[in-house]
Formats: sequence, C-alpha cells, structure tokens
Amino acid sequence: MDFNLSPESKMIAKAAQDFCKKEVLPIMDSIIEKDDYPDELLMRFAKARMLGMVVPKEYGGVGTSNLNIILILEELGKTGSVCAYPMMMNNSTAETILHWGSEDVKKRFLPPLCDGSAYASTAFTEPATGSDPTALTTTAVPDGDDFIVNGTKRYITSGNKKGFGVFYLKDEEIKDQKGNVTAFIVDKSSQGYTTSAPWQFMGLEGINCVDVFFKDVRVPRANILGERGNGFRILLRWIAGERIEQAAYMVGLGQAALDESIQYSKERLVRGKPMGFMQGIQWMLAEMKTKIDACRLLTYRAACLQDEGVHIDTLSSELKIFVTPAVQDVTRMALQIHGSYGYSKEYKVERLFRYAAHAGVIASSSEINRSIAGSALLR
Ligand SMILES: Cc1cc2nc3c(=O)[nH]c(=O)nc-3n(C[C@H](O)[C@H](O)[C@H](O)COP(=O)(O)OP(=O)(O)OC[C@H]3O[C@@H](n4cnc5c(N)ncnc54)[C@H](O)[C@@H]3O)c2cc1C
Repeated sequence: MDFNLSPESKMIAKAAQDFCKKEVLPIMDSIIEKDDYPDELLMRFAKARMLGMVVPKEYGGVGTSNLNIILILEELGKTGSVCAYPMMMNNSTAETILHWGSEDVKKRFLPPLCDGSAYASTAFTEPATGSDPTALTTTAVPDGDDFIVNGTKRYITSGNKKGFGVFYLKDEEIKDQKGNVTAFIVDKSSQGYTTSAPWQFMGLEGINCVDVFFKDVRVPRANILGERGNGFRILLRWIAGERIEQAAYMVGLGQAALDESIQYSKERLVRGKPMGFMQGIQWMLAEMKTKIDACRLLTYRAACLQDEGVHIDTLSSELKIFVTPAVQDVTRMALQIHGSYGYSKEYKVERLFRYAAHAGVIASSSEINRSIAGSALLR
C-alpha cells in the first residue's frame, strides 16, 4: 500500500492549482452575478488537458487515470466554484461513451468532448422521478432510421449549452416495463429541443441546470449507446463514477472551509487574543481536519480501485454516505468559527456551506445510496 501520489499525479494536482488561480478565481464573481460561466470555459479546460482524461489519445483524450481527474476536482472544489461541474460532466460522459459506444459512436462523439467544442449532459431525471427507471415518461418511438422523442427532462446540467447529451428514454417498442430504458446520444441543437431558464438553487450559481422539452425530436438510431433496453445499467455505471468525482469536489470544499477557518482563528481577536487559542475552536479545527483526511483517503482509494477495474457501485455509495454529511458538518463548523461573519456573503465559508448541501440530493440521493450499500451486504 502506497499513500504517496506518483510524480505524474503531483504534477497534475499542481497544474490544477495553477489553472484555478489563472482561469477560475478571476471569473468567480462574474459567474455568481450572471448565474453563468463564459462559453469558452470548456475550451480552457481542454487547453489545460483536463478533458477526456481517461479517453485514449486516438480519440483525442489524455489517456490518464480516474485518480488524476479527482485530484483536479479537489482543486476546483477548493475554489468554491461551480466550474467543476462542466468539466466533471464532460469527463464522465466521455468515459461512458468510451465504455459502451460502438466504434462509430466513439469516433463521432469523443473528439468534441475532448477538445472542448461540445458541452456534455447526462439526463435521467424527469418531473415525476429522479430515482425510479420504471416511472420514466419521456418516450422514444422508432420511425425508420430514427426515433421520435417526446417529453420533459428535469434539472439537466448544461442542458442549455451547445453539444450533446446521453438521454435515458422510455423505449416504446420494448414491452418489459423493468427493462425498457434505452440510452440515446442527443444533439442539443436538434429541431424540437428547447429548454427552460436555469433553475435557481440555494448554491452552485452558474450550474445551468434546466428542464429540457422534446417536441417530436428526431434522434438517429445510430446514436443509441450500448444495447437497447440496457439504459438503466449504463446510467448506474455512470452515476457510480460520478459519485467518486463529486466526493472529490466535496473534499475540496471541506479543505477550503478548514483553510479559511485556520486563517480566521489566527486573525480574529477575542479578549485580546487570537481566538484559535480557545480550546473549543481548536477542537473544531481538529475535528474538521480529521474528517477531511478520512474523506480524502476514502475518495482516493475509490478512484484507485476504479482504475484497477474493481466494481465501484457499492464502494461509491459508501463514499457518498460518509463524505456528504462529513463535509457538510465541516462547512457548518467553519461558519460557526466565523461567527456572524460566516453568515455573511462577504466570507467564502457562507458559500462553501451552501454548496456542500447539494451532495445529498444529486447523482442519486443519500437514501438510495444507503439502500445500494445495505442491500449489497445481505447478498
Ligand atoms: C444542482 C442539481 C443538478 C442536477 N443535475 C442533473 C443532471 O445533470 N441530470 C439528471 O438526470 N438529474 C440531475 N439532477 C437531478 C437529481 O439527480 C435528482 O433530483 C435526484 O436524483 C433525486 O431525484 P428526485 O429529486 O426526483 O427525488 P425522488 O426520487 O422523488 O425522491 C424523493 C425523496 O425520496 C427518497 N427516495 C426515493 N426513492 C427511494 C427509495 N427507493 N428508498 C429510499 N428513499 C427513496 C429520496 O432519497 C428523496 O429523499 C440535478 C439536481 C440538482 C439539484
């Protein structure tokens, strides 16, 4: 067992730190104010070789490891910015296409995800469900070489950004209700594809999460990903990887909350002394550090096992169960340490606290993950 990062991983983590300083921090205020990021953000990630990370070079990717993706996401998390999300979506969608796509599908869709010309989406959720594959109502009906798609998808990250997405749809020709979900790659500029204004959330300003409306949208049969009826399996595999990436982002948020708190505890005077001298503050700092270390080790381990080809369904669910409340608690303590200033938008910890709240309700809820991990123990 080796707890040290390889020289390549150290170099990538350092490059990510530099990227955050140069490309993310200068645009943070504007992202929050406009509730949007600049369109060229993805190109900047591509230029820094942070897209298509696990995609082989022959398709335009970097050909590196999942561990290196999460090192970048951790740095992006430290900035407390939403920029991690488009990068995460592109990388995870590319990995899914690489794993399940035919040669033709890989050749058509991987290069634009790697060179930053296409924003990826992954769309399962609908107004009536975010968890149940048997409740999908957005339909795909065969029509010659195409399928005709009708319905509504909800909360689709980057659904309004140019590019394409993997959409999980009810395949009307398959009669088995439990296995009728098919994954389609849909061009977001297709005729009949429209979106709502972005949802306003308590955090993650700029995530560009929209409802997608399909009105007789034609999707070529050649854009089916994997086997027809196998969509839910494809989704579950994608979401397991997404949970590891999200955990890395959470580790970054938690680390930033601790860094801010240490600094504040040294600077803020209480009864004439830096408040960090008080035992109550030290105990909180110690607890925060311990929790973040544990989250980081679990996250790195999960990514390393993923790189070794180990099945990560249960592992990534356990990660979600542990990391989500741990980092939420860390950001809560950071707010407390800052007193009323922590409740003010002037201070970064206010944002970190709000952003950390999202992890329990996206990329499958905490409860669903408890069910995945618990039922696995009884099999
Ligand atoms: C910022 C943001 C970004 C998002 N991005 C995307 C995206 O890009 N693509 C996408 O498809 N979706 C996206 N979503 C949607 C998100 O993934 C779903 O909302 C989430 O999976 C939960 O679904 P739901 O809200 O429909 O909850 P429901 O499924 O209705 O569940 C409601 C409650 O019941 C619990 N519950 C449900 N089923 C069970 C069960 N079997 N056992 C125990 N408890 C259960 C849940 O845990 C939850 O607490 C995003 C959401 C947000 C907030």
